[in-house]
Amino acid sequence: MVIGAGVLGASVAARLARTGRHVTLLDQDQPGQATSRWSFAWVNSNDKGPRPYHNLNQAGIRAWAELAPDLDGPAWYRPAGNIELATDDHARADLGARVRRLTEWGYPARLIDAAEASHIEPSLRSAASNTMAAWFPGEGYLLTEPLIARLISSATSRGAVLLTSEAGRVVGFDTSPIRVRTAVGAALETDEVVCCAGRWVPALAELTPAGADQVPLEGWAEPGATAPGFVVRVGPVAAEGPQRVVHTPEICLRRHSAGLVHLEAPDAAVDLHTPDPERRRWATELWDRARRTVRGLDHATVVDYQVCVRPMPADGQSIVGRLPGAEWLYVAVTHSGVTLAAHLSRLIAADLASGTSAAELARYRPDRFLRSPRR
Ligand SMILES: Cc1cc2nc3c(=O)[nH]c(=O)nc-3n(C[C@H](O)[C@H](O)[C@H](O)COP(=O)(O)OP(=O)(O)OC[C@H]3O[C@@H](n4cnc5c(N)ncnc54)[C@H](O)[C@@H]3O)c2cc1C
Repeated sequence: MVIGAGVLGASVAARLARTGRHVTLLDQDQPGQATSRWSFAWVNSNDKGPRPYHNLNQAGIRAWAELAPDLDGPAWYRPAGNIELATDDHARADLGARVRRLTEWGYPARLIDAAEASHIEPSLRSAASNTMAAWFPGEGYLLTEPLIARLISSATSRGAVLLTSEAGRVVGFDTSPIRVRTAVGAALETDEVVCCAGRWVPALAELTPAGADQVPLEGWAEPGATAPGFVVRVGPVAAEGPQRVVHTPEICLRRHSAGLVHLEAPDAAVDLHTPDPERRRWATELWDRARRTVRGLDHATVVDYQVCVRPMPADGQSIVGRLPGAEWLYVAVTHSGVTLAAHLSRLIAADLASGTSAAELARYRPDRFLRSPRR
């Protein structure tokens, strides 16, 4: 049984169904409507440390490339590359050092001059003379809604059962035998549960004897919390608009579906409590920044904006494995979940099948928080 039909749970369900296991996938909403829907969905290992976590993300990039041909890739897979511009001294120093480190690690990355930047991304408006640019050709982005729809079709075509809304909302567990209780009063018997409920994983762990201590996430509900992110979608974008992922110190952008462009900014100070007029002000600000950065948005307007929450483990690294004290509950929660889902789902399926510890997952087990408690 898999709880949560975001990019991670849908990937796990599709992978388990492919191995011939009977899968029931539960979601309290419709699939893919939580964090995965609003994610920047940039597939990268650009600034992910330490080295093993970088390697995990790099394996994530490769895993999507391998999956795309079998899962209608043109509908969702965009290996467009990423271009980054740095203007102030601090950003230039950071970018130069990062490109050097990534190159040493064998990751495709190089500094480029202004002429090459304009050639790679013709929509870029002319940059200030002190701009440094870098090109990361192995990166890209995913359109998560069509992707998740295809992952779920792949799972259901192999016999998986999808339960959504109240029928899929998990409200409790029984332990002997193991049963998952849902909001409609059902008690679904199973041998093990994979919990991919994103930011809600701690709340579900709390319903077991193990409790939530082994899945500590950055706070997201309180005012001023940093796990929430602000996302704006503008359109229509003209044909001359951006094709690559673009990062500058003031705006991050990429194409979205339906003629839209997805925008984020590192300094957008918005959380779940920010009143709507302030959210609107930020949405307009991001749209202005995007128009100043690339061509093709002159006739665009703000179409949508949303505060969404990063499921951010307290130490920044994925949490994947059985919960000591409730071993039948296997949790998988991570930031960079879009980059990681295809690869992590392979590791999780192998972990569940073999019962032996996958070396690649050893450092991400939940019991690390018991060994060195954070709080
Ligand atoms: C602004 C922003 C930008 C990001 N940018 C990137 C990026 O560029 N690259 C990248 O790799 N990652 C990025 N991330 C992170 C990435 O989006 C997440 O790691 C990923 O989407 C998490 O997917 P998930 O499937 O674990 O969670 P979710 O998509 O949140 O899915 C969890 C599901 O669990 C369901 N659920 C919860 N509770 C219950 C319950 N009790 N019963 C049944 N169902 C339940 C929910 O309805 C939901 O559908 C970003 C995140 C944000 C917020």
